[in-house]
Amino acid sequence: MRIDTHTHIFHPKTAQRLFTEYDKIFNRSPAGDGSLDMLETHLHADGFTHAVILNAALSPWQVESVNSFTIMLKEAEPWLIPFGAVHPADPDWEKHLEQLRANGIKGIKLHPEFQNEHIDDPRFLPILEAMGSDFVCTIHMGRCHLFRGCCATPAQLARLARDFPSVRFVAAHMGGHNVWEEALDVLHGKNVYLDTAFSLPYMPKNIVQRMFKEYPRENILFGSDWPFCRAGDTVKELRAIAGLSEQELWDLVSNANALFNMT
Ligand SMILES: [Zn+2]
Repeated sequence: MRIDTHTHIFHPKTAQRLFTEYDKIFNRSPAGDGSLDMLETHLHADGFTHAVILNAALSPWQVESVNSFTIMLKEAEPWLIPFGAVHPADPDWEKHLEQLRANGIKGIKLHPEFQNEHIDDPRFLPILEAMGSDFVCTIHMGRCHLFRGCCATPAQLARLARDFPSVRFVAAHMGGHNVWEEALDVLHGKNVYLDTAFSLPYMPKNIVQRMFKEYPRENILFGSDWPFCRAGDTVKELRAIAGLSEQELWDLVSNANALFNMT
């Protein structure tokens, strides 16, 4: 099993809007068009078998449709591990979380910037408590060019990981864009995983090397952030920037198998 733990698919209209801004901000083109067909083609061509699809709800009234889509994807596409969504302002979050659990959804994506809330806001806390060990919780972390503020820092996540020890957190983008040193200082591998999505080329090289030396390697997950980057490109970055050998690379990819009970 070779799982890319950080991908997205988008409605064509959403993709068009995102990519216009993306081109302007990053001065490069995305790797894919955001469609399921192209994801499957790219993923298999790059040597991967499964993909985690991260779906977030930007507003409380999106939760139901995002989760229906998530459950539909899980039923229709056995090679996908689609994540569901919760929103801190959703009055029915308990019901919606229960629906995800009942349908065997394995993870939840939190996007605090899009959700206008800090990750340690009191409204997130009962949701994390209720998630327990049933869901992997991937969080968009750090200070990237797309958002003005920063709603999820490594220090905040470290406190949550201590207070909710049964939740398995994934700090996306190697602990968070532009907060990598803080991630190295305060995060540890116990119930906090890092993913490699859209991060290595933007990190100072010495920090990349420290990350791969000091952070528990079994808690680093392979993620590409398709359609923004391709898995094949992330593989190349792991070889060239992190200096991983062929064996180390595929060992890293296999870390996700245990996390998603797919061994
Ligand atoms: Zn992403």
